[in-house]
Amino acid sequence: MESWRRGPLASQSRWGATAFPNVVIQMKRTTTRAATVLAVAATISMGASSLGYAGESDAPDYPDFKSSTYQDPADGQYIVNGDIPLQSEEQLRDFYQEVISPSPPTTSLIVNQVYGSDDIWSARQAQDLTYCVSTDFGADHSAVVDAMEAGGNQWEGATAAVDFTHDASQDENCSTSNNNVLFSIEPVTGASYVARAFFPSSSKSTRNVLVNTDQIFSSGSWTADDVLAHELGHTLGFRHEHTRPEAGTCFEDNNWRPLTPYDASSIMHYPQCNGASSDLSMTEQDREGIRSVYGS
Ligand SMILES: [Zn+2]
Repeated sequence: MESWRRGPLASQSRWGATAFPNVVIQMKRTTTRAATVLAVAATISMGASSLGYAGESDAPDYPDFKSSTYQDPADGQYIVNGDIPLQSEEQLRDFYQEVISPSPPTTSLIVNQVYGSDDIWSARQAQDLTYCVSTDFGADHSAVVDAMEAGGNQWEGATAAVDFTHDASQDENCSTSNNNVLFSIEPVTGASYVARAFFPSSSKSTRNVLVNTDQIFSSGSWTADDVLAHELGHTLGFRHEHTRPEAGTCFEDNNWRPLTPYDASSIMHYPQCNGASSDLSMTEQDREGIRSVYGS
């Protein structure tokens, strides 16, 4: 049990806050700055989704929310929902507003939407999802290369419509400014997350997967392969399954549409958010979900 509580993608404090919303306020005063943000995010998420906090005084005001949000020293982006970076304060403000006063669900694996349209790659681009793995990983480089390969294979095994390709010739110069690849895999240490990713609509300058080498290979029942498959799910446009109302917790926002019936065991569902699986393995519904949006 403890192994998955300690696992990847989000800090233990967020999980505690998520599982026990009533203790969040006390936690706010005792956790580190990085953890506090996640506790606050969880607080207003719980409030907006199930406790009717929207518009009431229990939710933090924006300055409090902002000051307690983890800002990644790697590139200054704000990290919300465990492993999702926001590029600007404008986006952070939009995020705050959405959580405080969510727009209605579009209807009931779920895909991200931007201005009402699916946030996915074109059919042509989906066949050419190139990435580099930074040599800054040092001794971990080959293990990250292998885990990325295994993570990508999970989605490629579900559909021939997506194809991740590691371009090793770019590993020595692997950053968001390398235009020879679509995105980069880069190391980070001391972060609040195990890994973080981006969505297809993200600008090239923010299109990287950051891997926390302090945790990626020591996250209990969550393997590095599965963590990176989860992150690659985001890069394909998929959202956290636990933002769906059926989860009853960990609400994020309503900017998505469902591709399958709710799946508590989805690879995109944090186990600690009332998930039905203690790991991040891919399910048949995940495979059906990607086929429904990218084809088979
Ligand atoms: Zn995630």
